[in-house]
This record gives sequence, structure tokens and C-alpha cells, in this order.
Amino acid sequence: MPSQTSRETARLFDDGGKDPVAVLKEVYGYPAFRGKQEPLIRHVVGGGDALALFPTGAGKSLCYQIPALCREGMGVVVSPLIALMRDQVEALLSLGVRAAAWNSTLSQEEASALRMKVRNREIDILYVTPERVALESFHSMLNGVKISLWSVDESHCCSQWGHDFRPEYRELGKIKEMYPGVPRIALTATADPHTREDIVRVLRLEDAEVFMTSFDRPNISYTIAERDKPKQQLLDFIGRHKDESGIVYCLSRKKVEETAQMLNAEGVRALPYHAGMPSDWKNANQDAFLKEENLCLVATVAFGMGIDKPNVRYVAHADIPGSVEAYYQETGRAGRDGMPSEVFMMYGMGDVVQRRRMIDEGNSPEEVKRVERSKLNALVAICETADCRRKAILGHFGEAHGGGCNSCDTCLHPVESWDATDAAIIALAAVFRTGERFGTGHLIDVITGKVTERVKQFKHMEIKVFGQGVHHPAQTWQSIFRQLMSAGLVWVDHDSHGAIKLDPSAQAVFKKERTLRFRKDRPFKATRAGKGANATQRHDMDSESAALFERLRSERYTIAKGMGVAPYVVFNDATLVAMSSGRPSTRGEMASISGVGALKLEKYGERFLAIING
Ligand code: ADP
Ligand code: ZN
Repeated sequence: MPSQTSRETARLFDDGGKDPVAVLKEVYGYPAFRGKQEPLIRHVVGGGDALALFPTGAGKSLCYQIPALCREGMGVVVSPLIALMRDQVEALLSLGVRAAAWNSTLSQEEASALRMKVRNREIDILYVTPERVALESFHSMLNGVKISLWSVDESHCCSQWGHDFRPEYRELGKIKEMYPGVPRIALTATADPHTREDIVRVLRLEDAEVFMTSFDRPNISYTIAERDKPKQQLLDFIGRHKDESGIVYCLSRKKVEETAQMLNAEGVRALPYHAGMPSDWKNANQDAFLKEENLCLVATVAFGMGIDKPNVRYVAHADIPGSVEAYYQETGRAGRDGMPSEVFMMYGMGDVVQRRRMIDEGNSPEEVKRVERSKLNALVAICETADCRRKAILGHFGEAHGGGCNSCDTCLHPVESWDATDAAIIALAAVFRTGERFGTGHLIDVITGKVTERVKQFKHMEIKVFGQGVHHPAQTWQSIFRQLMSAGLVWVDHDSHGAIKLDPSAQAVFKKERTLRFRKDRPFKATRAGKGANATQRHDMDSESAALFERLRSERYTIAKGMGVAPYVVFNDATLVAMSSGRPSTRGEMASISGVGALKLEKYGERFLAIING
């Protein structure tokens, strides 16, 4: 780890560069660096290559922006999405940084104007798509322009391992030879070792120093519940976030549309987003989500990367995602600004079966399917755990957490577990005795002694397990089957219409060589302990501060609307909260609020002071 030795600091100034802390305060208005930002930034300012593995919301953008501002020349930032670039450029312009984006949306005039600016050294930070970096013309534009650094954002896009693979990212390794002596920095919120190795290899970052922090997102609280009354469960959850923005993920396009309709009918402002919609409509909805303060976006996974709206206060999963990785990425879109945020997932046997079918019927080779199945099982195991969710999730990524986070449903309402060995034997016997040919619905009818048409047709009243499980309701049996599945004791065979099959490991349970402790079901409660409506961002404020916050928020909205930008470009929520509780009354006090940099003080200081003072 590079230390901040006085010699290094001295060298900084010898080079005529600016000090990172001074830039942080002056430009961004932030009092201090967070986590590993400072060592990383000093390393890059000093000319070293770096790989940053920080979770969402950790503040990765500053890690390349500040070195670009401290070092002489223009920083080039490769970014995968035009929407992402646009937001970043807007945010930088609002801070007085001369930023621009070079991509396919530029008209010929715009492009030549920008080319002039680049050549005249009037740009501090230039964002560019990987497609453009691949073009010779881009490099000829840079010819003779001093480059302060190269940054590759969302650098996991160079790995085929994940789901965001972008072939053009594979070419970015060339920059090493093309721009010798220019520091390069790659950033990602994807932590798994496989992806990391790919980034290092593809981007040729063998000599880069790796900066990594915990992937925990302490401001996110996790709730996972069995689907019981899905509409009510979702409304209860969203009802706690009135006037806030959030995302609801659904598995299918149809469900996206139905859910958005249902929410609107129930008085929640919701817009749909999925890949099947015309792109104008999709873009309009995405734009509204970024710029409005209280919209719920109902989406498939098509809505995702490129959403760096910092004040997403909640994320709900109406269906189980495909893996812990996907779940973590999607829930990670909440609370980028570090303010308390909540995520909620509903799941049931039905979605697990549907996910399995999607994998089984997909076009991937068998070995990939095997990985996908085990990834899904890992998520089901997290759903079924009686232990701290955060511990289970981080454990999946190889990070040890002591548990007891007090900010997940299992910590706040501890679940009981029970010795389910005898019940499991009944369930497994039902599978075996019916010839491993049926899904859970029929098996549960048999176990609970229901005489259905099917039961009669197959004469299943005559087998020994019929009715042996009447002492548990069907819902408990559903839970038992899910837990058997997540323990790998049974599996769903889609080649035979979703029949449950026995895994050889089930033998040990039959023989009572292995006992099973399962999670006890409990009725779903949407409210978390001790927190009422709008629990997230305002719960620590007294009513006067909360009222002031609302007035500041509405002023911010007016300003943003006038400029056609997202409100957070003016000030983010954390800054408004700091104003509401700190109540600065002079320009000097205003300047000391985190997030009020020199330009923003100049532009908006008086307007916000006027509201605070009177
Ligand atoms: P990431 O890209 O890692 O998800 P961002 O760069 O978008 O995170 O930063 C998340 C939020 O945190 C932004 O609003 C950013 O301005 C803010 N932020 C970053 N660094 C700091 C800091 N040192 N102090 C206060 N706020 C910060
Ligand atoms: Zn917990």
C-alpha cells in the first residue's frame, strides 16, 4: 500500500501538480476522502497504474477524476454507456470541471468543436466509448495532446465471465503501449476473483496496484420474504417509501407492465421499463426516473448498468434473480449516496422452478448450465438461511462478516429453526414412492392427504406416505421442498416437466445418518422493528429538519428542472440532509457543508441560504 510519505507529497508539488485534498475540498466541497480513495488517488497522481475494486457507492468516480485534475494534461475515461457518460459530464460541468463526451451522438459540428477544444487543451476530462477508442481517428485527435491518465470504468465489461461483456473492451490493453508512461486505472464494483484476473490480463495491468475495500453496503438493509400475498407485500414495502425513488425488478416483460399498472392504480407513480418497449418510450421513462424525485421504475434486468442515480432509496425484487451476483448488483443500485436504503425480495417455489427452466432450456453448454444452477442454488440458500443475510451474502463473495448486522430481516426478527429430519424423510419418500415423476404441487397433495383427480388417477392414496404430513400446512411443505432443493438433496428435472428428482446425497437423510435443521416459516411483516413510514432517509431528523429538508428538496427540483438536469446534479440528498440539520446561516457556514464546492456555493448558495434563514 503506498503511504503518504512526505517525499511523495513533496514530489507532487515539485511536478507542479495540485494536491488531491485541496481539489476534493475546493471542487467537490467534500471534507475528507473515504475508504481507500486517498491512497489510490495519490498512487495514480504519482504515475502508478491502479485497479480499484470498490462496491457501488464507494466513490469510484473521484478516483480517476481527481488525479486527472491534479496531473497535467487531459484525462481520458472509457465508459461503456452514453447515458452514463452524459450524467458524469453533467455532474462535472456543474462543479466547474471542463468535461466532455466523445461518442456517436455528436453531430459533425459538435465533433469538430470538441476536437478543437481538445487540441487547445480546454478539456480536463474526456469520456469516450470503447468503440471510439478502437478507431484510429480518435488517437490522431489525441496526437500531441498531453494525456494525464487513462481510466477504464466498469472494467468488468472486458470479462466474458460476467453478463456485461463488451467485445470492444478487449482491445483496451493496447493503450499500455500506445501511451507509455501514462498511468492507467481500471475500476469495477465486481469483486469475484475470476473477473479480476480477466481485467488484469486483458487490460495488461500486471504492474497495477490493487485497491480493494469491503464489499459490504452498510447503508442497505436487506429483507427477503416468502411470497405470500405478493401485491400486498409489495405495496406495504413501497408504502414505506412515499415520495422517494425506487426500482422494482420483475422477471418478465408482461409482469413489468402488469405491476406498473397495478402500482399506478394503487396510487404509486410507476413507469415500466423493459427491452421490448420502443426505445423513445424507454428513454423517456429512464430520463423521468433520473430527474423526478418520487418515481418507481418497474423493470426487467434490462434496466441496470448506467443507472447512477444516487438517491434510489429502495429496490424490490418481485421475483428471485438468477444468482447472488445479480442480486447484489441489482440491490446495489440502492443508496449510492450512502444514505439509508432498503431492499426487499419476494420468492417462492414457483420462481425457483421457473429460473431452473430458463437455465435448462437455455442455449448454454452443459458446463455453463451447471455453474448457473449452482449459482441459483446459492441464492436460494441465502433466501432460506436463518442466519444474518449480510453475513450470508458477503460469505458468498468470500468475505467474512461476523453476522448480527441488525439491518436485515433475520437479525431484526430472528427466525427459529427446527429439526426437520422426519419431515424431510416424508417429503423424500413421497418423491421416491411416486417414481420421481411429479412436481411439488402433487407431492404436497399426496403428503397432506388430499384426494385430487390426479391422486385418484395414479392411485396415490394407496402409497404409504399418503396423508403422513397432515400435521403441517401445505405452505410449510413448500418451504421444506425449497430447503431440500437449496441443500442439494432434490432437484427439478425440466426434461420431465419439472418433476422432482432425488439426489444421491438424500440417501443419508433416509438412513438418518444426516439430520436437517430448517428455517421456520413466519408470516411476512413489511415494517421493520422501530422504523415507521419513510424509514430511510429522514428517520434521524426531527420534524423541523424534515420539513426544512422538504423545502430544500423542492428548491433543488425547481433549479434542476430549469436546467434540464437531474436534481442530484444540483446537490445530492446527503448534502441537503447536512443543510437541514446543520442549518448554515452564512456563506462561510454554507461552504463547510459536505458537497458544497466553490462553484456550487457561488451558483446556489444564496438561494438555499434564503430558505434556511427564513
Ligand atoms: P461508485 O461509482 O463507486 O458507485 P460514485 O463515484 O458514483 O460511486 O459516488 C457515489 C456518491 O458518493 C457520489 O454522490 C459522490 O459524489 C459521493 N462521494 C464520493 N466520494 C466522496 C467523499 N470522499 N465524500 C463525500 N461524498 C463522496
Ligand atoms: Zn443481519
